[in-house]
Amino acid sequence: MTSIPRPEKISLANLPTPLRPLDRLSERLGGPRIWLKQDELTELALSGNKVRKLEFVLADALQSGADTLLTCGGVQSNHCRATALAAARLGLDCHLILRGPMERDNDGNLLLDNLAGAEITVYDGSQFVPHFDQIRDHWLAHYKSKGKVPYFIPMGASNGVGLWGYITASEELYEQTQTEGFTPEVVVCATGSGGTQAGLTLGWHLLNRRTQVQAYAVCDSAIYFQQKVLTDVAHWQQRYGSLLSGSVTGNIAKELSVHTSEEYIGPGYAQGYPALYESMTLATELEGILLDPVYTGKAFHGMIEDIKRGSYQSVKNIVFVHTGGVYGLFPQRVHFNNRARVCTWPEE
Ligand SMILES: *Cc1c(COP(=O)(O)O)cnc(C)c1O
Repeated sequence: MTSIPRPEKISLANLPTPLRPLDRLSERLGGPRIWLKQDELTELALSGNKVRKLEFVLADALQSGADTLLTCGGVQSNHCRATALAAARLGLDCHLILRGPMERDNDGNLLLDNLAGAEITVYDGSQFVPHFDQIRDHWLAHYKSKGKVPYFIPMGASNGVGLWGYITASEELYEQTQTEGFTPEVVVCATGSGGTQAGLTLGWHLLNRRTQVQAYAVCDSAIYFQQKVLTDVAHWQQRYGSLLSGSVTGNIAKELSVHTSEEYIGPGYAQGYPALYESMTLATELEGILLDPVYTGKAFHGMIEDIKRGSYQSVKNIVFVHTGGVYGLFPQRVHFNNRARVCTWPEE
């Protein structure tokens, strides 16, 4: 396999991340062999999938002379937390535009945003959603008027630049599976802003056309992700056309098949349900894996439900890409039992 040419990146993540089999879980389900690609281990503070995209996006920001990063997401956004911490690591300023409602406690990712020294503005969803472009332009103009050079990173760093994160991750995973002696029939991930799904779908298409990338949506619809993935890929091909000439030809977006399940979203983004919490607990009890209720928990729950109902019957090896998100678990602690018993000694 020859890898395709790629732009410069900065190094922020500890790569490659491990790949390990989850044999107790596979045995319990009586399905395919399940492997875990541990992208929750990319870095402790920058944990998860966003740092892979930021390695390329922040290289682009530095090249353009930026001194201030501006980005957006939910109050508990993993992407915003990773961006705030990466900015601190690089000595850049950072401003997060967060979608409310504001939370009562300074907890999880929001706590880390604060520790990282980011400027944080929270807008209620009723303003954030319809007026985001104006809010963004207002802050960009604000920093420019102060003589700063702001750089805007879209939601989840999901654009043509960020796509490189999971194109290169696909190559990394491919090498590991070959070393282990298999090629996965299916690679599973959670999808929210679409960039991880787009990078994996494109990456595996370029590597071999047999591996199916199956994404589990945590918001929006399958049709939305179909369009988002193809748009990001088209942006990528347009932007890197000359770099890619020779290795990627034609209209690559047209050749891709995008697979998204919208069945396990539940009541909505960051809103869970009992069967989800049960699957998360099973993963931790059986394999010592920490999942989060916003992203990885829903994808994992979807994958095991689909295994149980026979959707992966002809599959021998399936890789679950753990995209991080552990800090999002703690603000949702109320959904999990505390089984600790307070004892006295001597017992009565
Ligand atoms: C952002 C995120 C995702 C989804 O990735 P996208 O590229 O935004 O679709 C999945 N898991 C975790 C933990 C995330 O933070």
